[in-house]
Amino acid sequence: MRNVVMKFGGTSVADADAIRRLMDIVRAEAARTGPPVVVVSAMSKVTDHLLKMVAEVSRGERGSIQVGVDELRHRHLTAIEALVGYHKRADVSAKIEMQVEELRAMLTALAILREASPRSMDGVAAAGELLSSRLVAAAFQSAGVDAVWVDARRAIVTDDNYTAAVPDIAATHAALMREVRPHLESGRIPVLGGYVGATKDGVATTLGRGGSDYSAALVGEGAGVSEIQIWTDVDGMLTADPRVVSNPRVVSHLSFGEASELAYFGAKVLHPSTILPAVSADIPVRILNSHRPDAPGTLITARPPLNDRPITALACKRNVTVVEVTSTRMLMAHGFLRRLFEVFERYRTAVDVVTTSEVSVSVTIDDSRNLAGIAAALREFAEVTIEPDMALLCAVGENLRSDPAFAIRMLAGLEGVALRMVSQAASRRNVTVVIRDADVATAMSRLHDAWFAEPQQETRLEAAR
Ligand code: ASP
Ligand code: MG
Repeated sequence: MRNVVMKFGGTSVADADAIRRLMDIVRAEAARTGPPVVVVSAMSKVTDHLLKMVAEVSRGERGSIQVGVDELRHRHLTAIEALVGYHKRADVSAKIEMQVEELRAMLTALAILREASPRSMDGVAAAGELLSSRLVAAAFQSAGVDAVWVDARRAIVTDDNYTAAVPDIAATHAALMREVRPHLESGRIPVLGGYVGATKDGVATTLGRGGSDYSAALVGEGAGVSEIQIWTDVDGMLTADPRVVSNPRVVSHLSFGEASELAYFGAKVLHPSTILPAVSADIPVRILNSHRPDAPGTLITARPPLNDRPITALACKRNVTVVEVTSTRMLMAHGFLRRLFEVFERYRTAVDVVTTSEVSVSVTIDDSRNLAGIAAALREFAEVTIEPDMALLCAVGENLRSDPAFAIRMLAGLEGVALRMVSQAASRRNVTVVIRDADVATAMSRLHDAWFAEPQQETRLEAAR
């Protein structure tokens, strides 16, 4: 068995206790498969806190810099005191202090300039993962584990599209071969921060919020590992949204396609783009709970074993807005759809579900920040109705491909719920309905009871598809 990548989210590095659990989990894995690569998020809430400080200083509010930076400093140094032996503390404490003072200087400069460019935001946000990864590497070293801190800015090479930087895959592979692989080969555990990278010139970038999963997948692909483990604070992907349904179950296997549909439709566990590098390299991704390391979790692979349930899971995206656009001419003139979608493109607003009739098009959007501008632009050539407080409810499963009657059964199960839009995805891996947000709980529970009522029998046939 080859090495694995283990990514730990913010709650799994939240404090000394969490980091001790992380260390136990990593040691156990190292005993099984040799040294893993460890990728960590910033300690929980740190990224939010850093970005909030940037927003404040850019408005010239300097008041929170000292308190905010001191709080971060205190949180990391407290964890060091708990985790790193007295005689080994000096080195890592000095590194943390340096990082903290650099952060303080950056924020002060931004306050003076009243500036918050994406580039500055990344410079500040990167501090979260740089600090947490230093801390975790030092905790291992103090416990006698052969671990080494790797600077993510040297390992993940991106373009300069700050706050949502795109990795240069070839350059990143080369960097990982240089910065990470040799450590594994000499039996050391490399520890690096997720979310962070740098341009070719070494300017810090980030991959976008939640980007640590993506880092883990990039590292996994580049370092040639056999599995990517995403350690979080839930048991895995669930059969329904736990905030909506009281008894969701853990899905034991998912296909990559199912996982990305679920992530897209609101299942919070996995960042959708995580899937891409793992898919292209055919590396299984496992979601695991750091509070219950022995629970089986969810395994995501290209071709999971067959499942005898009609669907694999339900997901929902709440508080979406339906925009209905009706052509002011009798029929939709040609060019109408192009003009319509150009408006959403211009306002950089993603459209999730689309349905059309003879004279109108309905779309759903999740991000309504630019709604006023979008509506005004559409009204130049069409009538527009806006329906807020709607939701997408979607059933996902590879089995839907071979079950032409599924959509009918789903709709029958939703009798009495007002359906605003219905769509079956081109992949035929999902059926999505748009309903009132107020109906989500009833609708999702009813479907969940219908398909997941009996205990999960692990009867996925071990036959290849
Ligand atoms: N710390 C970053 C965030 O909160 C990245 C991550 O946790 O994946 O967005
Ligand atoms: Mg985070």
